Amino acid sequence: MIRSRTSRLAAAALSRRQWTCPACLSKRQYSKQPEKREPPDHRKLGNQQELFMTSVYSPGSPIFLPNGARIFNRLVDFLRKQYVRYGFQEVITPTIYKKSLWAKSGHLENYAEDMYSVTGNKRASDLEGSAGCCGTDHAKDEAVVEEDDDYGLKPMNCPGHCLIFASKLHSYRDLPVRYADFSPLHRNEISGALSGLTRVRRFHQDDGHIFCRPSQVEGEIKKTLDFVKTVYSVLRLGVSYRLALSTRPKDHYIGTEEEWARAEDSLKRALDASGMEWTMNEGDGAFYGPKIDIVLKDSEGKEHQTATIQLDFQLPKRFELEYQAPAPEYEARGETTNDPELLANYGPVRPVMIHRAVLGSVERLLALLIENYDGKWPFWLNPRQAIILTVNTSDPVVEWADEVRNILLGNKKLQDDGLPSLESLSGQTGLAVDMDTTARPLGTKIREAHASGYGLVLVVGEQDAKNSQVSLGKERLSPLETRDRMLRMVDTFE
Ligand SMILES: [Zn+2]
Repeated sequence: MIRSRTSRLAAAALSRRQWTCPACLSKRQYSKQPEKREPPDHRKLGNQQELFMTSVYSPGSPIFLPNGARIFNRLVDFLRKQYVRYGFQEVITPTIYKKSLWAKSGHLENYAEDMYSVTGNKRASDLEGSAGCCGTDHAKDEAVVEEDDDYGLKPMNCPGHCLIFASKLHSYRDLPVRYADFSPLHRNEISGALSGLTRVRRFHQDDGHIFCRPSQVEGEIKKTLDFVKTVYSVLRLGVSYRLALSTRPKDHYIGTEEEWARAEDSLKRALDASGMEWTMNEGDGAFYGPKIDIVLKDSEGKEHQTATIQLDFQLPKRFELEYQAPAPEYEARGETTNDPELLANYGPVRPVMIHRAVLGSVERLLALLIENYDGKWPFWLNPRQAIILTVNTSDPVVEWADEVRNILLGNKKLQDDGLPSLESLSGQTGLAVDMDTTARPLGTKIREAHASGYGLVLVVGEQDAKNSQVSLGKERLSPLETRDRMLRMVDTFE
């Protein structure tokens, strides 16, 4: 386990760079003058904690630094685990689509101003004799689409997921089909409105679309509300949250009144069953369907709309989505029949599409988390989970500190070049552990580590090296006990 001195020194230099906190943080912490406390600002904290930055070369597109990327990925991993529980399948879809797709989805008509255009470089000669992919009937349609050389950066994933659903035949037995997607999205916000992680041009959503039978809507909404409850209780976010149901607009809407009434009733039943507080925004639904917004109240009393659950009657029509079911007329109304004659008759039925996002924009949610935690991250999300401080720079102490770090990281075996061997990768813990082996007074190192926001500050001295242990405050632990404790804290979202 012992590394060569060169690789050890290189690692020590690297970890020093990582943990060194900006001078302003230490000053602020120990300033004798009590400062007037301003409400936490995610832009300031993001800068202090080196979470993200912005660049004039891409306004409105946050650049996540290693610490910010750690938090971002932990949130996404957490969601991925929930996807297994709630039956979502993750897909990976394009960032740009031809304008003909945006015409089909209705975005070109209703959303063009908020979209970025991209122009291809196809020459007219390339189009001659172009045929479809397999020379079948749809070759002609595809040639028309092929000639379209204007693209749009996607502001939403919905049309892409409709393409996937439409790509194969579905039976009523296959439904619900649930797709999830973390693709980056682009929306052309005006430059004056851009701010930190809250008003951006490029962002990610924990986006998901459910294609289900009309009779499954209520059950799917219930599950989604349960999903929301799970995520928000783990994140300990906000003082409280409420649900708001937006119903059919008075004039401009598609679908029949009967369809709307049925959909709204199933949403109301699901809301009642959730046991959560909910209110009604009469007439505030989108023209294509009713929706439930999740409105979060922060410690300052400010409200933030985060998660959303939206029923959509329009896109399944535009993309001619269908599935095969017995007694299709009953099926379309969400009803069942026992009549064998009717059941013998199979036919196409339009699925209901539910758009849902639990975190909403991951960037905006991160801004809320930064401000809500005031920069003090819970252990499982903390990009600085632990730091090992050496009491001095003697070889046994520094070597033991290095070994402790490897045990905490799960680097079982190191190669000659100091990198973990390929077979040891399976045991890696994913914990974030830094090291400070500088020749400075321990007190200074401890103060700095606390000011930088480390979750655990571990100390290693001569005695610890001899006894193969680490000091955590007054406790003396073996590295394995420390690692188990840290992993338990991650597992229980401490
Ligand atoms: Zn959608």
